[in-house]
Amino acid sequence: MEDKRKHIVVLTGAGISAESGIRTFRDSNGLWEEHDIMEVASPEGWRKNRELVLKFYNLRRAQMAEVEPNAAHKALSELEKAYRVTVITQNVDDLHERAGSTNIVHLHGELTKVRSSMDPALIYEWGYKELNPGDKCEKGSQLRPHIVWFGELVPEIERAADISRSADIFMVIGTSLQVYPAAGLMHYAPSHAAVYVIDPNAHELGAGPRVKIIAATATEAVPQLVQQLLNEA
Ligand code: NAD
Repeated sequence: MEDKRKHIVVLTGAGISAESGIRTFRDSNGLWEEHDIMEVASPEGWRKNRELVLKFYNLRRAQMAEVEPNAAHKALSELEKAYRVTVITQNVDDLHERAGSTNIVHLHGELTKVRSSMDPALIYEWGYKELNPGDKCEKGSQLRPHIVWFGELVPEIERAADISRSADIFMVIGTSLQVYPAAGLMHYAPSHAAVYVIDPNAHELGAGPRVKIIAATATEAVPQLVQQLLNEA
C-alpha cells in the first residue's frame, strides 16, 4: 500500500553530535580531534601512515562507545510516529541508530563497519573493537575503516539525491555545508518543500525565501521543531 504520510528528509552533520561530546572539525580550525584532517582522512594519509589512521579511528570508535545520543537525535526518531522520515547523515557515528531512527543513509560511511582495502564490496560489521595492522579481509588484504575519505567518491550520493527529491519537508542540522557533494543535497528538495536550517552559525550559510533559519544548537531547537511538526501532522 502506498505510504501517504509526508516525507521528512533530515540532513545532519557533525553539529548534531557536538552536544553528545563528539567534536566538529570546522569549529576547531580544520582539525578533527587535534589531527590534520588530511593525515587521517584521505587516501594519501592512509598510504603514508596506516598505523596513524587506524589509531585515529580506533579512538573515534572508543569515544563513540562512551557517548550517548542527545535530545536532538532522540527527537528526530519521534518524528517517525507521524511521518515517513529519512535521515541522511554525514556523521560516521551511530547516534541516530541508537536514538531509534530506523531509516538512515550514512553518506560518509560508518565507524562500526570496516572493509577490504582491495575490494570495496567486502564490508564487515566490526562494532566498537580496535582495527589493527594485520587484520585482513577474506581475500588477504588489510582491512580499513568503512569511511569515505576526502578525495573519494560518495557512493550513496545518487540515492541521497533521489530521496531529497521526494521531500515534503527538508531539515538541515549541524552542518557547515562546506563538504560537497552532501552540501548540495538541499537544492534537490522540490520547490513546495519547506526547508529548516538549524545551526548556531546558520546566518553564515546563506538562505533563500523558503528557508527558515533557526540559529540555535541542535538540542535547543530540534525537540521544539519536532513538537511543532508533530502537532501539524
Ligand atoms: P563541520 O564540522 O564542517 O560543521 C559543523 C557545523 O555544526 C558548523 O556549521 C557548526 O556551526 C555546527 N554546530 C556546532 N555545534 C552545534 C550544535 N550544538 N548544534 C547544531 N549545530 C552545531 O561538519 P560537517 O558539515 O558535518 O562536515 C564535517 C565532515 O567531518 C563530515 O564529512 C563528517 O563525516 C566528518 N565528521 C563527523 C563527525 C561525527 O561523525 N560525529 C564528527 C566530526 C567530523
